[in-house]
Amino acid sequence: MTQSEGVPRSLPLTDLSEDERSFRELVSDFAEKEVRPHVRRMDEEAKMPKDLVEACFGLGLMGIEIPEAHGGAGATFFMSVLAVEQLARVDASVAVLVDVQNTLVNNALLRYATDDQKRRYFPRLAAREVGAYALSEAGSGSDAFALACRATDRGDHYELTGRKLWITNAAEAEVFIVMATLDPAKGYKGITSFLVEKSFPGFAVGKKEDKLGIRASSTCELVLEGCKVPRENVLGEPGKGYKIAIETLNEGRIGIGAQMVGVAQGAFELGLQYAQERQQFGKPIAEFQAVQFLLAELAMKIEAARLMTYNAARLRDAGASFVKEAAMAKLFASRTAEEVTSKVVEIYGGNGFSREYPVEKFFRDQKVGQIYEGTSNMQLMVIAKQLLGRL
Ligand SMILES: Cc1cc2nc3c(=O)[nH]c(=O)nc-3n(C[C@H](O)[C@H](O)[C@H](O)COP(=O)(O)OP(=O)(O)OC[C@H]3O[C@@H](n4cnc5c(N)ncnc54)[C@H](O)[C@@H]3O)c2cc1C
Repeated sequence: MTQSEGVPRSLPLTDLSEDERSFRELVSDFAEKEVRPHVRRMDEEAKMPKDLVEACFGLGLMGIEIPEAHGGAGATFFMSVLAVEQLARVDASVAVLVDVQNTLVNNALLRYATDDQKRRYFPRLAAREVGAYALSEAGSGSDAFALACRATDRGDHYELTGRKLWITNAAEAEVFIVMATLDPAKGYKGITSFLVEKSFPGFAVGKKEDKLGIRASSTCELVLEGCKVPRENVLGEPGKGYKIAIETLNEGRIGIGAQMVGVAQGAFELGLQYAQERQQFGKPIAEFQAVQFLLAELAMKIEAARLMTYNAARLRDAGASFVKEAAMAKLFASRTAEEVTSKVVEIYGGNGFSREYPVEKFFRDQKVGQIYEGTSNMQLMVIAKQLLGRL
């Protein structure tokens, strides 16, 4: 920290350390060279290429916060946010692959796994195995703790039976954090988290969703039929799964904020470029004040969304309270992404409406930001609860 007459000068929120700057450049370079050329095909085929997933592992993007002793990068949560933002600037599907792995799966293990579980799972998650996070069900979305997936204690193991819906990364994943209830009569106090492997008997990945956006990101149903989970694979304490869900989602939201900032930025850059190239009435449309003012408004909102997201991530890394800021960041960034991508479609005119051009995909990809990891109404509820001191 620089000092001036003995008074520490606060650093700007967006000031990056040397490590952060070079990491951001590394990810941005990767996104441009290794992701961008495949984006359109991935969207059309609704497929995440295996070699791209491997490349994410190769670059260390799948174990950002995993300690170096377990094969990870031993970096900060803020680094994950930088990675997700840079990837989403090019492709929101690759961004959410990396986001779920780091901000939900690895994060839950960092907080709650036993040393033995960390030894067993971290090296795999850092080097080669995708993880997924399974809370939602057909009958329980916003009301997440009304889940019906049942866990039965069988002594040396638990048996899980039920279905999970909307599970990101499910097609690629080897390891799943699955929330199930030991006793529905206990309400949220029955919910328990389990580390479930794809190879466990009674576990299957079901139907894949055909989606509006983030089409290359797999979203599938999970089918558990008497799925045998060893006792040592309970994550945290039995009956405390709700705590794991709340805490990881509080942090995960910052990652979605970063994804939305990236989506907005990616679309905005295209709009800025196009406005300077497209000629109407004998001059580039960027010469019209209405277009200039629009670009200025959008840039301002992206800046605000980025500041909110970075601040929430920095608060989390500093061990300060961040729940309200995280919910605000996700809510604001997802609204910003909706506005920016919609306006960029307009800047492109008819071309914006055509699949020949890249902006309609940004418009489709952003919508999920207002739905997953808590809908916009759920974010408003979190913010209001914090304001009213109702924790
Ligand atoms: C692409 C995608 C990927 C996903 N990935 C995952 C994943 O990896 N893991 C996982 O567990 N889940 C995942 N989800 C599920 C996601 O978290 C849920 O869809 C989300 O929580 C909303 O639940 P729902 O779809 O049941 O909507 P509902 O809860 O039925 O909500 C419908 C509408 O009602 C509103 N509403 C509901 N209750 C209230 C209330 N009390 N007050 C005001 N408004 C209310 C909501 O805001 C929303 O607008 C994913 C979803 C999608 C679309």
